Amino acid sequence: MLASRLITRTAARSAFIKQSSLPTIVSPSTRWRRGYASQAEEKDLVIIGGGVAGYVAAIKAGQEGLKVTCIEKRGALGGTCLNVGCIPSKSLLNNSHMYHSILHDTKNRGIDVGDVKLNLDAMMKAKDTSVSGLTKGIEFLFKKNGVEYIKGTGTFASENEIKVALNDGGETSVVGKNILIATGSESTPFPGLEFDEERVITSTGALALKKVPESMIVIGGGIIGLEMGSVWSRLGAKVTVVEFLNQIGGPGMDNEVAKTIQKLLKKQGMEFKLGTKVVSGDKTGEKIKLEVDSAKGGKPETLDAEVVLVAIGRRPYTAGLGLENIGLELDDRGRVVIDSEYRTKHSHIRCIGDCTFGPMLAHKAEEEAVAAVEYIKKGYGHVNYGVIPSVMYTHPEVAWVGQNEQELKDANIPYKVGNFPFSANSRAKTNLDTDGMVKMLADPETDRLLGCHIVGPNAGEMIAEATLALEYGASTEDIARTCHAHPTLAEAFKEAAMATYSKAIHY
Ligand SMILES: Cc1cc2nc3c(=O)[nH]c(=O)nc-3n(C[C@H](O)[C@H](O)[C@H](O)COP(=O)(O)OP(=O)(O)OC[C@H]3O[C@@H](n4cnc5c(N)ncnc54)[C@H](O)[C@@H]3O)c2cc1C
Repeated sequence: MLASRLITRTAARSAFIKQSSLPTIVSPSTRWRRGYASQAEEKDLVIIGGGVAGYVAAIKAGQEGLKVTCIEKRGALGGTCLNVGCIPSKSLLNNSHMYHSILHDTKNRGIDVGDVKLNLDAMMKAKDTSVSGLTKGIEFLFKKNGVEYIKGTGTFASENEIKVALNDGGETSVVGKNILIATGSESTPFPGLEFDEERVITSTGALALKKVPESMIVIGGGIIGLEMGSVWSRLGAKVTVVEFLNQIGGPGMDNEVAKTIQKLLKKQGMEFKLGTKVVSGDKTGEKIKLEVDSAKGGKPETLDAEVVLVAIGRRPYTAGLGLENIGLELDDRGRVVIDSEYRTKHSHIRCIGDCTFGPMLAHKAEEEAVAAVEYIKKGYGHVNYGVIPSVMYTHPEVAWVGQNEQELKDANIPYKVGNFPFSANSRAKTNLDTDGMVKMLADPETDRLLGCHIVGPNAGEMIAEATLALEYGASTEDIARTCHAHPTLAEAFKEAAMATYSKAIHY
């Protein structure tokens, strides 16, 4: 993945017209009428987009003493992640898991419960409260760090001037020595199935359904589809996941781990149709009908459901930015073309986050935000694209970092494997939560960790240890000789490391 990213970046760089663009002088006729910012006060940095990429860059820039403005059109900071992504989905995942556990997993724990009822409105309210608390928290951090926040839609008027259509009417414009594009991404539509966010939904609709549907088809078995499918399956919907590939989990998930989590999700009631492509959809009837076929062709079938969630991926969002006004190009996947320091062909205009290369993850956007500001302020920055963890917040969770077994095989890189099942871990046993394992891949000669893949309780927290180990070039022996508290799930991590270079004690 790292190699392919570097190639993309190199290709992008060679596509540059090397040109150091001087700030454009703005003609008096284009001067703004009313607003918060004044052209007289040129900013050091103007950021378009107040998602994770944009707001983190804004705070960091404020901390570095830069005069900074952040333009966001949503009316709330935090972007997809806080408003309709990471945060609301994790709220529903957490609370639907509790509901499901209370319904199905209390008897053998010695807990007798009475009538258990779902109050979906209250569950949604809890989600909304978390979201609004966090978005307001960012506004507070903006104030604390001297960031000017403009609520509106930004469009390039020239290479240094951004025109803003203000949310509450009117227009303003801001001039920046440096500009950062951080406009994020949107759900990829499925041709012929128009979103109405009630029956044919994106993840945004899946975060706000007003009732539990009797049946739901999820098109796409990647992380977002499986997380949202899990939520509604736990709350009582019959969920079927249709996936074109023969494996769930999307890019990066280890084969063995993908098979393990599929079995566990099936045990929880989710159905899977792998190697199956959706050919067309029809939403005219009471139920939505999908014509599906084997991915290789030849086995047509009709599926129907009350709700269809389209989760076939996300695409960069740059609509309305006016990139054409400044001659900035996109690649064939709609990504803003940048070099390794996030510069577009106009070196003072940079781009980070979902709207450019790399995995569409909040923590990747965050790393890039800090690095981009450091490049502006200090001339250097750092993001290690080989060490970006991924987490799927189902139960059990799935998490990984570094290379997986298929990638090592494909690249002819020698490796050895160490596995440790949670069924042999004392804490998992006491928690009656023993599904899954930790799998480590290491260099056979040096024991250097190459990748770690976890399916199990708390995998999303545990992966931080593997990420640190990879970042510092630790060997599995380094990990195994590090004392881990007992009884903890993290001991499974230590024992997998032992199994890689020697033998696990408890298995
Ligand atoms: C359901 C779901 C769950 C997810 N869960 C996770 C997770 O658990 N962990 C994880 O790491 N990632 C997760 N993601 C992905 C994560 O949300 C994104 O990677 C992250 O939000 C990208 O940040 P960004 O700042 O690049 O873009 P965004 O968060 O999309 O922010 C871009 C912002 O720019 C604004 N904007 C766009 N154009 C303009 C304009 N012209 N003027 C002004 N403002 C503009 C938009 O309104 C938006 O608020 C999830 C995504 C979804 C959809």
